[in-house]
Amino acid sequence: MLGLMQTQNLSISGILRHGARHHSTAEVVSRTHEGTTHRYTWSEVERRSRRLVRAMQRLGIGEGDRVGTLAWNGYRHLEVYYAAPGMGAICHTINPRLHPDDIAYIVNHAADKVLFVDLSFAPLVAAIAERTRDCVRAVVFLCDAASMPDIALAPGIALHCFDTLMDAADEDYVWPDFDENTASALCYTSGTTGRPKGVLYSHRSTYLHAYAACMPDVLCARASERILPVVPMFHVNAWGIPYACALTGAGLILPGRYLDGASLAALLNAENVTLTCGVPTIWMGLLQHLRTTGEKLTSVKRIMTGGSATPPLLIEAFRDEQNVRVEHGWGMTELSPVGTYNSPKEAQAGLTGADAVRHMLKQGRILPGIDMKIVDGEGKALPWDGVAFGDLMVKGPWIASAYYGDAPGSALDADGWFATGDVSTIDPDGFMEITDRSKDVIKSGGEWIGSIALENIAVSHPDVLEAAVIASRHPKWDERPLLLVVAKPGATIDPASVLRIYEGQIAKWWLPDEVLVVDELPHTATGKLQKTTLRSQYKDYYMK
Ligand code: ADP
Repeated sequence: MLGLMQTQNLSISGILRHGARHHSTAEVVSRTHEGTTHRYTWSEVERRSRRLVRAMQRLGIGEGDRVGTLAWNGYRHLEVYYAAPGMGAICHTINPRLHPDDIAYIVNHAADKVLFVDLSFAPLVAAIAERTRDCVRAVVFLCDAASMPDIALAPGIALHCFDTLMDAADEDYVWPDFDENTASALCYTSGTTGRPKGVLYSHRSTYLHAYAACMPDVLCARASERILPVVPMFHVNAWGIPYACALTGAGLILPGRYLDGASLAALLNAENVTLTCGVPTIWMGLLQHLRTTGEKLTSVKRIMTGGSATPPLLIEAFRDEQNVRVEHGWGMTELSPVGTYNSPKEAQAGLTGADAVRHMLKQGRILPGIDMKIVDGEGKALPWDGVAFGDLMVKGPWIASAYYGDAPGSALDADGWFATGDVSTIDPDGFMEITDRSKDVIKSGGEWIGSIALENIAVSHPDVLEAAVIASRHPKWDERPLLLVVAKPGATIDPASVLRIYEGQIAKWWLPDEVLVVDELPHTATGKLQKTTLRSQYKDYYMK
């Protein structure tokens, strides 16, 4: 027997309409390209998004078409975020920090019809124009007429100004209803693990993910919060925050391209931001700025960090010096992206000092609505004892089932689980902790050594700014850990003293065989350590 409840398609325009109707005065604030501040409300976002649909229709965009964006977090980008899926097209956010060859590949693979581009990326679109002219019909610069760049694109690609298109369009569009499983957005993984692969979200997956992300033990997004996503809208949907704010009426503060410590500190304080979200590299930059200037964060209560493991220093320094709580989450492009979040249960709420920090380094509990498990090499489920570690598998309605262009279900195992490529433990309270990416695990004499734990200890050394541990082939043990460290400005690292801090913190056989001091470590387009590069450079270090 079926229930007798109303049915309604979950839709991205539904999120926007809710924001406009019930949080009509909630603010969306943007730092613009010129460094000025633009403010408006959800009711204006909704009205302008309808206008933008009309402009998109005039450019020939229709249902199912891919609309690419190369843009920072800002209000015009937000309007594309809502207008494209709202009309049944697909908002394809492109990571401009990728290599131009990868960007050209992605645009062609997605067959983007139009690109909406921030002024900073004018040279980039010019560079890829010739290679993308088979699919791209038009490039729209997200600016006013006076700021239009003077560039030449390839023949067949028209050049437009966003504000001019908007001025010429009307607002009479009515948001249509369609199947909630319709594709809404497309985002390619950054290629930390090979060629970029497209993850195609649906209206339903986006809505459910946004709902779960708002929960008290996750973002705790509320109408009284003001949230600044440093995490870019071009990468993994800015962790769902542009949707969470419309659903809850939380203020949305978009920082544009100004992501250095000084600019962020100024914006966080000026806009009374209560929660800000981004990767550890950003917080290290902010911390350094605050320490040098002695400035204080006046309104921020929480920093959400994720994307790579959190160094303990971040949690301690923001707690002790700024009275700000650093909270840790985990996810990936394929998970929309948030999968777990570390909020304490009653048993952990009383932890203090080092015990509290130790616990906060875990990536956290699964969001309600999706599920996880860890398995050994044969696919057998491992116990949740906080010790056994294995491949982390996930399942649920905001997790990819296949990559764009592949057969439905092709990214899943026979039981419908998605292998994350991460290796982790899960403790009896359900807190997951990543020990490595599967390719980064060091296999020494048949046993596994996790590189993240070794890196976290290395960065607690007073002279170490950044550390990477990789597997280097070894004549006797198959692989052994090699530690690479970068010194803090003005400091000199004594390798022996780095090895000494491991004493008592790890099993003896986990100790890196050698420490190499290097000038810098390679990073990916999303600020993560690029271990593939390090591995190719140092994989035979112990063989020599
Ligand atoms: P990519 O890094 O391939 O571009 P994603 O941005 O989707 O793609 O990254 C997802 C990966 O980032 C995860 O599989 C995991 O390895 C890593 N990651 C994300 N959050 C955390 C975290 N809090 N701690 C450790 N690793 C993390």
